[in-house]
Amino acid sequence: MSGVLDAQAAADLDGVIYDFIVPAKEPWSRVIKAGEILRIIDLEGQQAVDFLCFNAADPGDRYSSMNTIKVQGNTYVAKGTVLYSDSGAKLFTVIEDTLGQHDTVYGCCSNPNNFLRYGVHTTESCYSNFLKELSKHGLDRSAIVGNVNFFMQVPIMADGGAGIAADISAPGGYVDLRAETDVLAVLSNCPQMHNPCNAYNPTPIRVIVRNVA
Ligand SMILES: [Zn+2]
Repeated sequence: MSGVLDAQAAADLDGVIYDFIVPAKEPWSRVIKAGEILRIIDLEGQQAVDFLCFNAADPGDRYSSMNTIKVQGNTYVAKGTVLYSDSGAKLFTVIEDTLGQHDTVYGCCSNPNNFLRYGVHTTESCYSNFLKELSKHGLDRSAIVGNVNFFMQVPIMADGGAGIAADISAPGGYVDLRAETDVLAVLSNCPQMHNPCNAYNPTPIRVIVRNVA
């Protein structure tokens, strides 16, 4: 359960039905029922959270960064953004956001792209975390698509260049995601140690689910 970190934040919330600290570098998943609100809290700041979601009734209908970017005409996720599926179904709506800009272009870290980018042979990555967590739901690597990177900023420059910005997400920052149907949420608390997305220090995050209906 919640532990001692940031205990006051949940005490102030209505309708809490689930409260969990995801340890540094670990994955997590849960089905969020329609109308429930998933809060993801960057407890200590500057911690990327790689995020996939699926229509729980039909997991083949998964998060689509294509549809999300095209429909809203914006490459960033922020308050008001709807996360769409391949079929065009609304999965989540971002209803609160203390940061104001999250990435959904850059995808997740993997052992192969860590080698290609940094020349290092890693054994932990968001891709590996996704595989482990997806297997609990009968899903495999075919379910790993371009994801949302909460608390991570990848500014796209005029020349098309993109890179990970450092030192942006403040401690205690959060997003609230309202489920628009029953949604399987799968996340990786990013273990990356080779770029600034976690300030070279992966830390725990907190997930809270509320039913305020
Ligand atoms: Zn990662």
